[in-house]
Amino acid sequence: MRVLLVEDDEPVAESLRRGLRRYGFEVEWVTTGAAALAHSAPCDLVLLDLGLPDTDGLDVCRALRRRGDLPIIVISARSDETDRVVGLELGADDYVSKPFGVREVIARIRAVLRRTQPRPPDAGPDRYGSRLTVDRKAARVRVDGAEVALAPKEYDLLAFLTEEPGALMSREQIMEAVWDANWFGPTKTLDVHVAALRRKLAGAITIEAVRGVGFRLETAGGDDGDTRGADTS
Ligand code: CA
Repeated sequence: MRVLLVEDDEPVAESLRRGLRRYGFEVEWVTTGAAALAHSAPCDLVLLDLGLPDTDGLDVCRALRRRGDLPIIVISARSDETDRVVGLELGADDYVSKPFGVREVIARIRAVLRRTQPRPPDAGPDRYGSRLTVDRKAARVRVDGAEVALAPKEYDLLAFLTEEPGALMSREQIMEAVWDANWFGPTKTLDVHVAALRRKLAGAITIEAVRGVGFRLETAGGDDGDTRGADTS
């Protein structure tokens, strides 16, 4: 998987490069909008900073989108909500605000790639640890092969948290992804749904609360990673 990183801030770019490589991504790094648009080697996704020295990142986003449907994740230090909205309207697939952790960026990349590169129709359910499987096509969840009935938002929350087991997801990230892209209200409903998942999936997963930040899902037993498309028969 090859990522084109467009970022003029060297420390940020260096830490992203290191982090992405650790997770198996190849990274091509350019520091200007012009270099991003001139870049011709094939890549699978663009990480695009908005504050570039030569052009506005939003213009780069627009130009890249005109050329095709290469996934674009905008990264920006700008706190202005307008940038986020405009970025997404211009065709960016997701938006990450600085400062961010590498795991958060990885989780966003994987989520975007999953959305933009649909899995083959015959792929089976995703297995997490030794007990839990999530069939994303049918929106069905099983523990030890037995189906567990989840409310729609409980399923959405589980589907989001299992996109990157072990990653710390902030409350804001979760609320945006699962409830509403423009959610700024209280997040008590999130705690209620987390409690329901803990109860219904006890023993198969744990959802650790990280005070003041968010939640981290861990799978139970055996391998810690997920084996996508695992045969559950
Ligand atoms: Ca910048």
